Amino acid sequence: MTLSFWQQRNREAEIACDVAVVGGGLIGCATAYWLRRLRPKLEVVVVEAGRLASGASGRNAGFLLQGTSDDYITALQLYGPERTRRLWNFTRENQRLITSQLKPEAFDLEASGSLTVAGSRKEAERLADGVPRMRADGSPVAFLPPDEANRRLSGQGFHGALYVPSGCMLNPAALVAYVAAQSRALVLEDHPVCEVQETGEDVLLETTVRRVRAAQVVLAVNAYLPRLIPSLSRFVRPVRAQMLATEPLLPRWLPLPAYSHEGYFYLRQHDDGSLLLGGARHLHHDVERGYEDATTPALQADLERYLHHHFPQARGAHVQQRWSGVMGFSPDRLPVLGAVPGLVGSYWAAGFTGHGMGYGFRFGRLMAEVVLGFPRPEELDLFTEARFLKESEPVRLANGSTG
Ligand SMILES: Cc1cc2nc3c(=O)[nH]c(=O)nc-3n(C[C@H](O)[C@H](O)[C@H](O)COP(=O)(O)OP(=O)(O)OC[C@H]3O[C@@H](n4cnc5c(N)ncnc54)[C@H](O)[C@@H]3O)c2cc1C
Repeated sequence: MTLSFWQQRNREAEIACDVAVVGGGLIGCATAYWLRRLRPKLEVVVVEAGRLASGASGRNAGFLLQGTSDDYITALQLYGPERTRRLWNFTRENQRLITSQLKPEAFDLEASGSLTVAGSRKEAERLADGVPRMRADGSPVAFLPPDEANRRLSGQGFHGALYVPSGCMLNPAALVAYVAAQSRALVLEDHPVCEVQETGEDVLLETTVRRVRAAQVVLAVNAYLPRLIPSLSRFVRPVRAQMLATEPLLPRWLPLPAYSHEGYFYLRQHDDGSLLLGGARHLHHDVERGYEDATTPALQADLERYLHHHFPQARGAHVQQRWSGVMGFSPDRLPVLGAVPGLVGSYWAAGFTGHGMGYGFRFGRLMAEVVLGFPRPEELDLFTEARFLKESEPVRLANGSTG
């Protein structure tokens, strides 16, 4: 195909905007959405290396779970009672904002509730022990004993489950596309950013296609953050996850998402009957790291073993698709929001640790409030990089305060 004089000129033209958001996953698109909701006249550009949702946001299971990646009792031990309660509230608000501000049918949201399923007696005890505390903290959850759990799952061999009424499932790639469209931001796909430079007046993003100038920048590239800013590698590391999808198995027998064995397996059945299963990473720790987009026969065989063991009705089902995605893991398994070193007023977010759908839309609002310099954005203290910094490394927010 030839390129006209005009096409060539447009390709090379520099683009200037108020805020450039690097990364077209859920976090980048949600940030663009909230920037424009809070300041409709703001010129926002989303700069994405591939296509929108080509990263983890378009490759995940589409579970909109509540809470952190750990069960409540473990979270209490890791984060303390107050922070755990607030983290759960944050994810409940995320779900509430998605269902109230957006059009759920645009991304096939099913308000099904979710099951956190115990793979061992010990896990079942922990899930049951968490129930009174969770109820007191505002989550009307219920513990299902083994018989009831296996009946709800149409499965066998599970030791119980926690039913979380506000859990949902959706089509994550459609959610990202919808949020991006609603933001009305300019989206530049196939524009990998290779360098971020402070010019003295603004920030210059060098891409392999053209330059983007912005007063402020948001880096929402999750696991890829250390590739862009190597000094931030201590906050996020790339971890691979693999999934498979079977041929449609009808009638549909699993109407809600199941997160089992401490989250190391996750399963849902799409409304066309296809089973989507992911996990088994804990059995292949050495291999499941880095950025390579590939599946491995050994891990995929473990996924199938899990499926056939717990769901005999799926034995013999043809696997139609296998894929992988790269997650960004943080040191304490919670998302991190920080200031880009050397760029006043520019921020990054990463480390969603396999749970970015549960935080993402609400997190975009938090990010937008920080970028716009809102005084004391609510819940910033839950996620700020300050928790990892020494006193000699201050966090600079746009409003001049520290996070
Ligand atoms: C297989 C799998 C299953 C999962 N299941 C779930 C689930 O069911 N529920 C849940 O809550 N979470 C799940 N997760 C995690 C969830 O997908 C992530 O936490 C979430 O998508 C993170 O969103 P993000 O926008 O930060 O990152 P990404 O979606 O990874 O977006 C980052 C974007 O930045 C772009 N980018 C990178 N470098 C550059 C550059 N230099 N220039 C321009 N663009 C760049 C990438 O192309 C990418 O599109 C799963 C993840 C995987 C991989």
